[in-house]
Amino acid sequence: MTDRPARSARALAVLDERLNQLDHQPARPAWNCQSCGGPWPCSPAKVRLAEAYAGDRTGLSVYMSALYAAALNELPTTSADWLYGAFIRWTRSLPRKSPAAPDGRRNKKEINRAVRTPQPV
Ligand SMILES: [Zn+2]
Repeated sequence: MTDRPARSARALAVLDERLNQLDHQPARPAWNCQSCGGPWPCSPAKVRLAEAYAGDRTGLSVYMSALYAAALNELPTTSADWLYGAFIRWTRSLPRKSPAAPDGRRNKKEINRAVRTPQPV
């Protein structure tokens, strides 16, 4: 049996730590960006998350899944499919581990391209 509430709580507890370099954080429980005002994760937040996970697409997907579960609980009238697209689908467009830039970070152009590419529903 899974412990979804505890997993979501852990994901939310580290959210600020993951995004502490960025002002694009979610205003909960509405899950809108505190900077842009649009639905979170916004493009800048996605780029920051992708960079923070440095090519660990699986780890990022697991993390975003926990946040997705939290958002499902906090936004009961929002379509689960729409939330899936906002929180998880975009992570699938990120390349799997690929050669890192010489400084060990992901290629920013590669991440930006993946984050901004519209995903099929
Ligand atoms: Zn934003």
